[in-house]
Amino acid sequence: MIKVFEPVITKKDITQVLNSLKKGDISGSYNKTIEKFENNFSEFIGTKHSITTSSGTTALHLAISVLNLPKNSEIILSSCTNIATALAITHNNCIPVPIDSELNTWNIDVNKIEKSINKKTKAIIVVHFLGNPVNMSKLIYLKKKYNLYLIEDAAEAHGATYNKKKIGSFGDLSCFSFYANKIITTGEGGMVCTNNDMLNKKLRLYKNLGFVEPRFVHYVQGYNFRLTGIQAALGLEQLKNINKIISNKIKIAKLYMRLLKKIPGIEFVKNRNNTKHVYWMFGIRITEKFKITKDQLKNFLAKNQIETRNLFYSMRNQPCLKKILKKNSPETPNSNILWEQGMYLPSSHNLKKKEIIKICSLIKKANFE
Ligand SMILES: *Cc1c(COP(=O)(O)O)cnc(C)c1O
Repeated sequence: MIKVFEPVITKKDITQVLNSLKKGDISGSYNKTIEKFENNFSEFIGTKHSITTSSGTTALHLAISVLNLPKNSEIILSSCTNIATALAITHNNCIPVPIDSELNTWNIDVNKIEKSINKKTKAIIVVHFLGNPVNMSKLIYLKKKYNLYLIEDAAEAHGATYNKKKIGSFGDLSCFSFYANKIITTGEGGMVCTNNDMLNKKLRLYKNLGFVEPRFVHYVQGYNFRLTGIQAALGLEQLKNINKIISNKIKIAKLYMRLLKKIPGIEFVKNRNNTKHVYWMFGIRITEKFKITKDQLKNFLAKNQIETRNLFYSMRNQPCLKKILKKNSPETPNSNILWEQGMYLPSSHNLKKKEIIKICSLIKKANFE
């Protein structure tokens, strides 16, 4: 079976994790590695501050919580995203307003945002889907025009760039994930990045139960969203290899595109000229021109021991959000198409050339049978 993703843990990763255990460098006040991981990550992204969290989901939750938005504030988000983006909004008592995708970049259609901005709108969260940077210039324009917070959900886009600047350095806050299948991993883990000193302080306070002096007197209702030192040791070592991992991801995507481009009915995601797409996962869209449907292709590949996965289900249609979304929440027809036609292929960064060739020849075969 060729899986959609398999984690790569190096010998050095293991040594560093064991060292952290041996030194009792494990968590909270008993850790010496978290700060180094945060500093190195800040250096990589180019932000002033990075704050570790227990997951990408808690990074998003924390990022919204420090804005202290009034109840029922509206937050605009990409409709095609992990449910975590929407839940971070609802768990902070705000209303998600999902905006449709573009069919070429698969990212939020920035031209559809303005229509949904009103007095209650306080923030925009955009997802750099599959590692493909969103048009940040337009978002910065909207942020300034309407005085909104801009948050980047960069859970899939470590190392991607827009106008040569790293994704995650544009928003007031940006959130990363180090889940098992993300570009680098700590098992579970996340990071919030910011250039804002006041937000940095608040993030650190809120993620650690609001601990201040005197100890055990609490002024804010914080959370325990802490990463462990053991995980930070893994993250620190993984971060050393990040550029190699990303260049492998890009190589894999380029090979897929070269081998699949002549097949009618297969569409690739488009990225803008001024961006570096890091291809966290390699996605394709199976249009009507393909002989069989996407679901039939997925089944055919599964029978041949190739695992694939659907793209996200639009936040507009999520059963768990039905009662929370506004009645006039805009439709998301393009995200629906991405759900019906989109999938991603195996994208482990140690995937072998011959495995990619095998996958592509099976797809070719499916189109001719
Ligand atoms: C993975 C992911 C998350 C959630 O991160 P976890 O670490 O799994 O909690 C959030 N948003 C996007 C876009 C993701 O891909």
